[in-house]
Amino acid sequence: MGGGLVGLSIAYAFSRNNFKVLVLSKNRNESAGFVAAGMLATHAEGLEDELLKFGQESQSIIPKWIKSIEQDSNIKCGLKKMWHSSSF
Ligand SMILES: Cc1cc2nc3c(=O)[nH]c(=O)nc-3n(C[C@H](O)[C@H](O)[C@H](O)COP(=O)(O)OP(=O)(O)OC[C@H]3O[C@@H](n4cnc5c(N)ncnc54)[C@H](O)[C@@H]3O)c2cc1C
Repeated sequence: MGGGLVGLSIAYAFSRNNFKVLVLSKNRNESAGFVAAGMLATHAEGLEDELLKFGQESQSIIPKWIKSIEQDSNIKCGLKKMWHSSSF
């Protein structure tokens, strides 16, 4: 449900695991991802302790996940590493 980044990510994960997926979205054009700055900067979100660790671990698997999306879709996502980050 919902055609934003989260809804589509969940749909992609299910689809990759051989589930048949139907994405229902009220208005895909209002999804925040269309206006987001696109920064993956867990360390800059004011998180602490376990939540920061969880965010950093999540961020560390993004390159692998992006590679999978690029291979499956044949579309470049444009992920760029702008500076050194221990979680990237
Ligand atoms: C200006 C701006 C800059 C940002 N910059 C960054 C950034 O640099 N880095 C970062 O990590 N994050 C950033 N974010 C946050 C990030 O973009 C959002 O957290 C993320 O895109 C949210 O995705 P979502 O799928 O949860 O929600 P949404 O993008 O809001 O998508 C929800 C979708 O569900 C649909 N929907 C709603 N209700 C229903 C319903 N009842 N039935 C069916 N569909 C429904 C909506 O139409 C919408 O398409 C930014 C956000 C904004 C607004």
